Amino acid sequence: MGFFNGLVGTLIVRTPLLQIAPSRERRWLSEPNRRRLQEVYDQVPAVSCHCDRLGQCCELTKEEMEADFATMYPLYSIEYFNIVDYVEDHFDAERRDAVLSLTDERPERCPFLTDTGGCSIYPVRPLVCRTYGVLSREAVEETARDARGKVSAQWVASFLFTERHTVCPHTRIQAPEALAAHAKNMVRFNYERELLSLGREAARLDEARAAVFASVSGLKRVTRWTWGGYNVLLRAPLAWLKKHFAGYWRRSTLAD
Ligand code: SF4
Ligand code: SF4
Repeated sequence: MGFFNGLVGTLIVRTPLLQIAPSRERRWLSEPNRRRLQEVYDQVPAVSCHCDRLGQCCELTKEEMEADFATMYPLYSIEYFNIVDYVEDHFDAERRDAVLSLTDERPERCPFLTDTGGCSIYPVRPLVCRTYGVLSREAVEETARDARGKVSAQWVASFLFTERHTVCPHTRIQAPEALAAHAKNMVRFNYERELLSLGREAARLDEARAAVFASVSGLKRVTRWTWGGYNVLLRAPLAWLKKHFAGYWRRSTLAD
């Protein structure tokens, strides 16, 4: 899906694919955290799709590429862990290694989009994909109007900015009775705050990686990034990370 990231005119340089070994012997996410994540997802009303080309929103047009949109973004760290566990359980070795080795921060096409326009990680797709096309243009404007004076003006502006870009006229809501609560959650950023908090609890950066990350970025952790960015930080061989992470980070535009 194409989502504006708020940064314009940044040159993205592709990093060569890393050979990153799978880690099937361990789970990235504990069951309690997985359940809490699912509880957040369950609040988003499902949609059915009725456009003429499924998956068109999961790849970028030339114009979107030029305007710095990104697919499957933002991806919260807790969501990354959940997807990695799913990939390790459900993908064959070739496909698994391909997606786990992807380091491009802003691929033109989501790495999980199938040739027939489906989502190969549908049960664990991230929040940003679940909320796409749920609110109509009218619902977005109405939600913002209702929220003015009740939540911060910055939240309303941010909600409007994002949601106006993620309206799809070809979706149908499966559970319309859940829409009002969902709209309120969106404009109050309730889902995001829960995912941030879950991500802090589930942090999986070992000491050596955390040290490299802190020395390069000056940050304690990254909370929202992309599939490729997390792959580099959490899965690249440590020796590679020590040597090349500074360059990767300098070119990165989407870490948060
Ligand atoms: S969200 Fe819209 S564009 Fe994307 S697959 Fe569904 S109907 Fe098609
Ligand atoms: S994760 Fe699935 S729904 Fe989301 S952008 Fe990728 S293919 Fe589309």
